[in-house]
Amino acid sequence: MKDYQTLLNRLEASGNLRTLPEVVHRGKFIEKDGNRMLNLSSNDYLGLAANWQLQDTFLEELKKSHLPLSATSSRLLTGNYAVYSEFEKILADAFRREAALLFNSGYHANIGILPALADKNTLLLADKLVHASLIDGILLSGAPFIRYRHNDYDHLETLLARNTGTYEQIIIITESIFSMDGDIADLRQLVTLKKQYPDILLYVDEAHAIGVRGPNGLGIAEEQGCIADIDLLVGTFGKALASMGAYVVCSRLLRNYLINTMRPLIFSTALPPAQIAWSKFLFIRLHQLQPQRNQLARISQTLRDCLAGKGGEISESHIIPFITEENDTTIQQAIRLQRKGFYCLPVRPPTVPKGTSRIRFSLTATITDEEIRELITVLQNN
Ligand SMILES: *Cc1c(COP(=O)(O)O)cnc(C)c1O
Repeated sequence: MKDYQTLLNRLEASGNLRTLPEVVHRGKFIEKDGNRMLNLSSNDYLGLAANWQLQDTFLEELKKSHLPLSATSSRLLTGNYAVYSEFEKILADAFRREAALLFNSGYHANIGILPALADKNTLLLADKLVHASLIDGILLSGAPFIRYRHNDYDHLETLLARNTGTYEQIIIITESIFSMDGDIADLRQLVTLKKQYPDILLYVDEAHAIGVRGPNGLGIAEEQGCIADIDLLVGTFGKALASMGAYVVCSRLLRNYLINTMRPLIFSTALPPAQIAWSKFLFIRLHQLQPQRNQLARISQTLRDCLAGKGGEISESHIIPFITEENDTTIQQAIRLQRKGFYCLPVRPPTVPKGTSRIRFSLTATITDEEIRELITVLQNN
């Protein structure tokens, strides 16, 4: 039998053992071992998960609606409540596209869509830094794939030129805001490339951008004005939208095809109708949340400026790396910042490339200018 204990011991010895942190949430603060800290590792980018007023309003609505807390079945069997289709219509209309389809999570979306659409006659070209869920989807599809250098569209174009005509189709896969560096894909340039070659689909994951960017909070595709040209626009409700689940915005044809072929959609119980109602409740309010987006943009700029030369210059968003290179220094920094009341976490290889260990700041709109100034003081008095 495999000796799992020895394998765990090895992880511990190399400082890579993962455990589930015991933390208590207090709005934008986190308490751990009695220490109260400002949460600088949250995906609650707009502060909606800690907004009790919104939750109370929703819960009152929910009580009257009697929407169940379980679908008890896949949507393809008996689990298809009206609230799913209503929300999909709202999503398609907001993005001004033909169709949208809901999934149980961003992870389900990314491991399900690519295997449904791609086979050995499809070439997948993915940015080197795409999220683990996309990598898993690529591997599950069994399709040939090449990872192009991060945001390097010359490299991508070389690959397109070399492979066009050899395959039935090529799918270009990218995130919009990247999880670890907080930098941003040039979606317009990707659209231009897509139009220069035949038989190309563009797949964009907006997990970190939905709610946070664009004049109506619809993401980087909205900000860059290219929603209409992205074949598969994916986003999740688990981050800025303070809920659970995910969507793809696409053509009616692709939606119908996914309904027929996408295994995580077909073979898993749909999200609770009550959960869908909560996602919908927040989504239809997104356009009103410009003050939150502005605050997030302002404090992010301040922290990026402070960390210029140490990773801050790489970021173009509310996700800001502070690169310290050595694993040990990163861990020491994280411990020091936590002692000073700032909850931030070290990120080490293999999650990021060797020599780029970092603290990954992930800011939220409820953080004040004052709190960011205090953080900067601590960072500068190293
Ligand atoms: C978080 C994340 C996902 C997964 O979304 P969930 O809804 O949490 O499963 C997918 N892609 C990216 C880029 C992410 O950051």
